[in-house]
Amino acid sequence: MWAQICVVQFPAMKEKISVSEAQQTVLDASPRLGGETLSFGAAQGRILAEPITAGRTLPPLDNSAMDGYALRSEDLAQASPDNPIGLPVVYEVPAGGQGARPLVAGEAARIFTGAPVPAGADTVVEQEVVEAQGDRANFRAPVRSGKHIRRAGEDVKAGEVVLQPGIKLGPGQLGLLASVGRTFVHVVQRPRVALLSSGDELVEPDGDSTGGRIVSSNSYSLAAQCRELGVESNYLGIARDTPESVEKHLRAGLGSDILIASAGVSVGDHDHVRPVLEKLGCKLLFWGVRMKPGFPVTFGRFEPGQGPLVFGLPGNPVSAMVCFEQFVRPALRSMMGYRDCFRSTIEARLTHAMKKKAGRLNFVRVCLERRDSQFWATSTGTQSSGALSSMAIAQGLLIFPSAAETLEEGTVVKVQVLEEGLLGNSSSLVIDE
Ligand code: AMP
Ligand code: MG
Repeated sequence: MWAQICVVQFPAMKEKISVSEAQQTVLDASPRLGGETLSFGAAQGRILAEPITAGRTLPPLDNSAMDGYALRSEDLAQASPDNPIGLPVVYEVPAGGQGARPLVAGEAARIFTGAPVPAGADTVVEQEVVEAQGDRANFRAPVRSGKHIRRAGEDVKAGEVVLQPGIKLGPGQLGLLASVGRTFVHVVQRPRVALLSSGDELVEPDGDSTGGRIVSSNSYSLAAQCRELGVESNYLGIARDTPESVEKHLRAGLGSDILIASAGVSVGDHDHVRPVLEKLGCKLLFWGVRMKPGFPVTFGRFEPGQGPLVFGLPGNPVSAMVCFEQFVRPALRSMMGYRDCFRSTIEARLTHAMKKKAGRLNFVRVCLERRDSQFWATSTGTQSSGALSSMAIAQGLLIFPSAAETLEEGTVVKVQVLEEGLLGNSSSLVIDE
């Protein structure tokens, strides 16, 4: 009775579902992973799993933003080009040093950038406008109180939360961690990914590709898609088209968080991945998504703690990559703690008409060009699910909705951007000087 209550009830497998239903199913099954503590230098690119409270005030003291002279602004109230005011320079404060004593009225101290402003002074005059004469300095203009002083705590106050969980640690965040003295941080773990290919026709790139054999490119393109997310995958090799070989390879990946199998997920006599997964205890959540390329994609999971999420991707090289984009990438990002799990989309106009049959959402490989403030999308050419050459030049995946049959030239469409750099003007110099 008790055991029955504890059994997790998975929903029954769904077939031929929509892309968005499949994506939602994947996200629902992909909770954020636990945390781990890393030296902050090793945490670049990771998602923070804790709030960071500053243990220090920054800057710790009022300090000078310039090389120049610290003094009391009221002493220069009458200064002008015709009425220079000379003050004795009574000591020097280097960065890392301290004023010898509080300044009194009618005195100046030589000060350098980053040095603490001595007590008694309320302003700093930059050296460029000062005439130094031995141990005196002449000033030819009044100065406002507080000029060129960086106030203690103007950046960060001790006890303040400076970074929230969920943020990605990049250069700015790592610099801040260093300055508040957090040399170890708690970040979200990286998923452990295992990857296998299957098919009797497949060889490794340096293998014998005569006699109808082909190179298993998926092993490399999918690993590269993982690496783009900062995730190294464990490559399990190529399974032969027998249930035994498929089982042996799948078993080798059961200790991972995500297991990706490419090919062998359709309904042919040599497609063993789905039945073997079920035999191993994997509950299949969907098979068949109304999309092109990628229809036979399969997704399943083991009971929590018992095994990985499993993606059975179609073998065709473009189908495998497109399915990775739509399902595996969001799962990985969700597990890694990202709030935005999907590719950015833009609106683009079509440079030419497109046609297809109604019934499946098509992801059309396109090149993107920016003319003035508008993106234009052009098909990369053949949309065959085996044509990697057209994936290699694709900058985006155009979403050709399921029900639509034609898109006219000039139509505004949605495009998932594969090259994030396209969204900015990364190639232009700063010209607004
Ligand atoms: P399958 O999903 O097993 O029916 O395979 C569909 C197509 O993808 C076939 O033409 C396979 O030769 C090809 N294919 C399967 N696996 C790979 C792979 N790892 N790399 C490149 N092509 C593959
Ligand atoms: Mg096959």
